[in-house]
Amino acid sequence: MEIQNLMHEIREDAIEKMEKKSPYDLAASWSGEDLLYSGVGNAIFIVLPTSGCAWALSGSGGCTMCSYVADSPLVDVEADVLVDIFKKCMAKHEIEKKTTVKMFVSGSFLNEAEVPKVARDEILGILKDEKHVEEVVVESRPEYVTEEVLKECSEALGNKLFEVGMGLETSNDYTRKYKINKGFTREDFEQAVQIIKKLQPEYNVHAKAYLFVKPILTSENAAIEEAVESARYAESVGASRISFCPATIHKGTLMELLWKQGSYQPPWIWSVIEIIKRVRSSVKIPVIMDTAAFGTRRGPYNCKKCNSKLKSMIIKSNLEQNIPKEFEDFECDCKERWVVDVKFSDVTRSTTNLNRRR
Ligand code: SF4
Ligand SMILES: [Zn+2]
Repeated sequence: MEIQNLMHEIREDAIEKMEKKSPYDLAASWSGEDLLYSGVGNAIFIVLPTSGCAWALSGSGGCTMCSYVADSPLVDVEADVLVDIFKKCMAKHEIEKKTTVKMFVSGSFLNEAEVPKVARDEILGILKDEKHVEEVVVESRPEYVTEEVLKECSEALGNKLFEVGMGLETSNDYTRKYKINKGFTREDFEQAVQIIKKLQPEYNVHAKAYLFVKPILTSENAAIEEAVESARYAESVGASRISFCPATIHKGTLMELLWKQGSYQPPWIWSVIEIIKRVRSSVKIPVIMDTAAFGTRRGPYNCKKCNSKLKSMIIKSNLEQNIPKEFEDFECDCKERWVVDVKFSDVTRSTTNLNRRR
């Protein structure tokens, strides 16, 4: 309960300081190359502003590393406004080859209190009629994954591939509860995956596990081990894909507070590479490593000389799903410092990196 009280306080404070913006100003979209279920294609990413993540706005205060609620107008967004924003975002992108559409609502797409059913149906109906859109990806907490909702979504989408990404974050229930304050268990995740699997193959629905690399109060070594273990677990319980999110410091979070005190650093990019190597050699489903904020002060970091080169290699390996030989051959002076951190971070029980200050 203590972490929830603390998170609640931090969240209230962050919300109070938030600059209030209209839903139209908070919307965003961009596109790029991505790995679809059928191979490399195009992806359109759309941020739809909704009333905000119900978990973050509850008495729990939400997750220790997440400030997505700051991307929400914190008032109900009418269904027709949401649909209008969606259409305006879609109109900015040419859709000429096979495409996946990924919608982020800074919470749960399947929660009708965040995305009203009528808006959900209309958005999915528009995507059903887009010839080159092959798949649609949304995010949701497991408690909103029900047979009824999945069937409704699949039907609205004309049974195109519908993937539900859930923020499992880790296979470790202790970490998820006490370090992340996620508010659900492995069992909840497994139940949601089971519901999705039960509907296959009649419905074209899939589960994706989002896994978080290096929660607070976790050493560099433990972060690597837990990430690898979590990927194996997610595959074993039926996820079709895995997406790793290495930690980035969001504003107004407990993670930011600890970072400012020098008690936390996001992972090394070397650690991320180690995770890719170990996971790709032991897990068969596609594994994507998110590289957002790599090489920035608040994101995963090695040194100025190698950050961007390694980031490009990781992006390429996401598309090819291989363990590039360049990972083995690549050398940089900073690697020795990473080796020391991994070796001694558990011994000292330090939550920071021993020799890394940016
Ligand atoms: S990580 Fe997801 S569930 Fe947690 S506060 Fe952020 S949006 Fe809500
Ligand atoms: Zn370096």
